[in-house]
Amino acid sequence: SLTERLNGVFKKLRGKGKLNEADIKAAMREVRMALLEADVNYKVAKDFCAQVSERAMGQEVMESLTPAQQVVKIVNEELTKLMGGDEPQYLHIKNKGQTVLMMCGLQGNGKTTHAAKLGKYYRSQGRRPLLVACDVYRPAAIQQLQIVGEQAGVPVFTMGTEKPEHIAQQAMAHARDHGNDIVILDTAGRLQIDDALMDELVRIKEAVEVDETLLVVDAMAGQEAVNVAKTFNEKIGITGVVLTKTDGDTRGGAALSVLAVTGKPIYFQGTGEKLEDLEPFYPSRMASRILGMGDVLSLIEKAQSVQNDKEAEAAARRMMENKFDMNDLLAQFQQVKKMGGASALLAMMPGGNQIDADALDDKMLPRIEAIIYSMTPAERAKPEIINPKRKRRIAAGSGQTVEAVNKLLRQYEMMQKMMKKVRRNPKGFMRSLGNLG
Ligand code: GDP
Ligand code: MG
Repeated sequence: SLTERLNGVFKKLRGKGKLNEADIKAAMREVRMALLEADVNYKVAKDFCAQVSERAMGQEVMESLTPAQQVVKIVNEELTKLMGGDEPQYLHIKNKGQTVLMMCGLQGNGKTTHAAKLGKYYRSQGRRPLLVACDVYRPAAIQQLQIVGEQAGVPVFTMGTEKPEHIAQQAMAHARDHGNDIVILDTAGRLQIDDALMDELVRIKEAVEVDETLLVVDAMAGQEAVNVAKTFNEKIGITGVVLTKTDGDTRGGAALSVLAVTGKPIYFQGTGEKLEDLEPFYPSRMASRILGMGDVLSLIEKAQSVQNDKEAEAAARRMMENKFDMNDLLAQFQQVKKMGGASALLAMMPGGNQIDADALDDKMLPRIEAIIYSMTPAERAKPEIINPKRKRRIAAGSGQTVEAVNKLLRQYEMMQKMMKKVRRNPKGFMRSLGNLG
């Protein structure tokens, strides 16, 4: 992980006592690699390291008694700066009239859930929010908003499958009549960015005066999420980001790159499935989390050899267990995507053109991704907890059938069995593959 990688770099630095320029250069090369591996945007990583280097080469650091600690401190400060600075940013809620928040983003990223979380959050601050169902393509979507709205104690405005821009307009009239001061629009998502989705969002923005266009981004989506943010910003203009699922095993890439790439701050983070799991986004806390320390200096103190042995042992154990869960599966799909999709890969294989790879890219992969995105981090890490009730929720959330969810789970089980075989008897497994061909 990014945290482990960075700590590795710092450990090396600490072993050195006094630092020279070459030490810092080498360390920064490694920091840059670690950031890239964590899916941080290339240019962001490069600029970040240049900035840290410049400060680290300064006299105070080089001549201090504890140069390595100074470098860690600088990295922490620069990470914080990269994500927006010391203080959290707050949404601009007007004191008069209605403030309109529009939730947008790809399917499964958490729009509906976070519409309700924001409703609950502002209700607890004495506001009178109204949730509006503008995702009209799936009956389940409207129902989902009604359910979470009720849980949040926030009224939900629905008009069935009318045009979303019309619903938004009517909702404004309703809000004025009923004294709702914050109007939160839950919009439709797609598995991938497409023109129809963008046009629809633009039409909503033309129909009502949207104050904050909030892009809802799954923190676990990494670099992919940043590309999405860039496109949304170019096409419809976002004002900020809600970073969801930060309770999962995020690699940090999305949190670190979004502001630098779009110029728009992260306002809130989702820290769990429950409606109270919402927090203002504190860049400094996220930086500390990425560095794996509640407090930078206390960790440095702790870094004694005993501690290191234990860490190494834990890492080794994880590797031996060869954990492979839905997160790994998702990561593999994203790898395939990065390499140009299944069509590009199959084109390079003999006989690969026999397979309808385009269908695989266009239909299968996005569907599977949607299903996995609709799983909670706990479900991804331990798919065996997915009972029929969870299956129905995942199916509804991803716009897929329960059968499709079952199919994916069966495939996952098969992969697990296969991997067990490989672990138990690698040579035998290879032989059996040979026999097939
Ligand atoms: P939408 O398609 O963008 O409206 O996404 P949903 O709001 O339906 O969320 C998709 C899935 O992600 C649901 O199962 C949510 O419970 C889950 N989810 C959303 N936000 C979070 C979060 O911050 N933490 C966790 N653990 N799960 C979340
Ligand atoms: Mg939704």
